[in-house]
Amino acid sequence: MDCLFCKIIDGEIPSTKVYEDDVCYAFRDINPVAPTHILVIPKKHIDGLDACDEGDKEILSHILSVIKLIAREEKLTGGYRVISNVGEDGGQSVRHLHFHLIGGKKLGWNFD
Ligand code: 5GP
Ligand code: ZN
Repeated sequence: MDCLFCKIIDGEIPSTKVYEDDVCYAFRDINPVAPTHILVIPKKHIDGLDACDEGDKEILSHILSVIKLIAREEKLTGGYRVISNVGEDGGQSVRHLHFHLIGGKKLGWNFD
């Protein structure tokens, strides 16, 4: 499958790794929108949140706890934001499920 994030997981495309375990991989976004901008992705290829089913529950809850762990390591004591864009209207440009962990500054809330 021709998937950018699967290639990142496989090391075919370089990335700045932040965290890795059997279930997920986390790396710095190439185009950060804040001082901390990390992508957390499952090692299993899932197209997006819209493609998850009951069998993916454990992966999803695991990723959420990993995000909390990374936020602590990144010292995001003032808070942070977790986003998963879904589909075209949601602004998803890579069809491999990913969660953006964004923080390190006071974030706005602006949709255009
Ligand atoms: P989306 O727009 O699908 O929600 O998020 C995709 C994210 O992947 C974007 O924030 C984009 O900057 C990031 N991205 C795209 N290609 C690469 C890449 O090759 N390496 C890294 N580290 N991030 C990437
Ligand atoms: Zn993939």
